[in-house]
Amino acid sequence: MDNATTHDLYQRFQRTQRNTENVINTAPLGICITDPKGHFELVNPSYCEFYGYREEELLGKHFTIVVPQAYRPTMSDLHDLFIEGEDNQELRQEWEVRCKNGEVRTIIAEAARIEGDDGQPRKVTFIVDITQRKQLEERLKQANERLDHIAHHDELTGLLNRRAGLQCLEQELRRSSRYGNPLSVAMFDLDNFKAINDTHGHSVGDKILEEVTATVNQALRETDVQIRLGGEEFLVVMPEVNAEHARLAMERIRRIVGQTTFTEQALTVTLSAGVASYVETSTTRLLDHADKAMYQAKQSGRNRVVVASPM
Ligand code: GH3
Ligand code: MG
Ligand code: MG
Repeated sequence: MDNATTHDLYQRFQRTQRNTENVINTAPLGICITDPKGHFELVNPSYCEFYGYREEELLGKHFTIVVPQAYRPTMSDLHDLFIEGEDNQELRQEWEVRCKNGEVRTIIAEAARIEGDDGQPRKVTFIVDITQRKQLEERLKQANERLDHIAHHDELTGLLNRRAGLQCLEQELRRSSRYGNPLSVAMFDLDNFKAINDTHGHSVGDKILEEVTATVNQALRETDVQIRLGGEEFLVVMPEVNAEHARLAMERIRRIVGQTTFTEQALTVTLSAGVASYVETSTTRLLDHADKAMYQAKQSGRNRVVVASPM
């Protein structure tokens, strides 16, 4: 090779090297190269800007400087495994990272194993900031959870609404029939509630509904579910409870509600309830029986619990 050609080749080599450097320096994604021990050998401007460090603050440092304390040992081990491993690519993954100012952000990282000038392996990592997308996802998730809650619950009392409550009953009925366990329901309605509204106003009526709900919930077992069927009518689903125990439970609740005073005006209210127990039947029939029994309770003077005759 004559001199001119050598010079030419050298220039071309220099140019490709400069091109590579330019690409790395202007890349909109963060790039770093770490040595076999995990120390930074190269960090591009996007990488530095994202983490809030100057280049010289990072070079030579262990890469876990940008990893939250709790994950440092794990991340360090993963780095060693990748360096020693067979795979040349590391799968794209989401990580939480820590910037210089302490801010925790979320990135997607992808890495490759390359060979350094000394023949030793290096890890080159590419990172993309997805913090905003992550926050948006989190807000959407919370909004969906709120919507889901609104769709299934009654706004005033926080109880399951009619639709969700009946779904819950369906589910409990299926469980009972599968395992042959008893299941009872109690339907109850507040007595002469219209008079309370007429005398004290609708908002006082609302307050009573809220407070009665809380009182009943407190008196129920963990596994019982109280549902607002609508207006001042409620349903209690009692899994694994037979008719007699459901009657006793409802009697106790009737007594407690009757003896409690509600709102600042210390008002009293009573309830009438109908209890029905599951024997190979549908939700509709079960509710129908409870409803008839409740009607009887109203008819026979209110403030009482009536058990439906066996189906
Ligand atoms: P009964 O003993 O026969 O059940 O008499 P009642 O007056 O309770 O029955 P009725 O069905 O005649 O009236 C129910 C009343 O409940 C009518 C309505 O004003 C009141 N009510 C229903 N839902 C609500 C509510 O969400 N808030 C308030 N404040 N009142 C309600
Ligand atoms: Mg009523
Ligand atoms: Mg009613």
